[in-house]
Amino acid sequence: MIRVENVSKAYGGRVALAPTSLDFRPGTTTVLIGPSGCGKSTLLRIMMGLIHPDSGRVFVGERELSPDNVNELRHRMGYVIQDGGLFPHLTAAGNVALLARFLKRPDAEIEPRVAELAEVVQLSPDLLARHPKDLSGGQRQRVGLMRALMLDPEIVLLDEPLGALDPITRSELQAQLKAIFGGIRKTVVLVTHDMGEAAYLGDDIVLMREGRVVQRGPLADLLERPAEGYVTDFIRAQRSPLPPLAEGGRP
Ligand code: ADP
Repeated sequence: MIRVENVSKAYGGRVALAPTSLDFRPGTTTVLIGPSGCGKSTLLRIMMGLIHPDSGRVFVGERELSPDNVNELRHRMGYVIQDGGLFPHLTAAGNVALLARFLKRPDAEIEPRVAELAEVVQLSPDLLARHPKDLSGGQRQRVGLMRALMLDPEIVLLDEPLGALDPITRSELQAQLKAIFGGIRKTVVLVTHDMGEAAYLGDDIVLMREGRVVQRGPLADLLERPAEGYVTDFIRAQRSPLPPLAEGGRP
């Protein structure tokens, strides 16, 4: 459904992403994981056509992404970023409907779609009239997700969508994302640095380090057939036990 071929990007002579080729199959959720600065967002933004790669090509379906078609192809992709990335001067409903309005879709189509999406992400409809500043982080993120799904895109790209949330809201939204992605059978690519989240949401995991893909596969492969010691180290570091409690029960 979406595929990158040898895409690379450097900033000021420093490699952000070494030449990378990956394909993402319809109906699967692929998680890009790795330490901060390893190139996950750069790869996702290249796929979205927000960054032009120094080399390589991006294919959406059979079509190669180019300056001529980037706007059109972007409408086939929903994009969610940390904290929703909502416009502060628009209401939640205004944010969700923005692109559909820009594309001159009729209100008779927009309004029921917004209501339907509020149900999908379990956002109470009375919150749709609020501005982002009057919503909680979790609610903003639900609105961001509604906006990404508004045009019923085949591909959904999410960049650390739950990164800014408290642990309880985060785990609630993880469960909802899993249900939503399971139900809609889209091609989903999600960036996280949390192995638990990757294991829970991802059919396939792409572990990256310093601008390169170290290993791609289901979690079981990474655990049982690590491509290099780093894979095991990365997984183990994320599973480290909580620090022991000092006397009196405080860490
Ligand atoms: P990740 O998403 O894995 O945290 P990024 O893709 O954001 O990593 O960044 C990869 C590398 O590229 C980092 O070293 C980062 O500092 C650098 N980088 C990203 N965007 C820019 C930019 N606009 N200008 C300069 N360096 C950048």
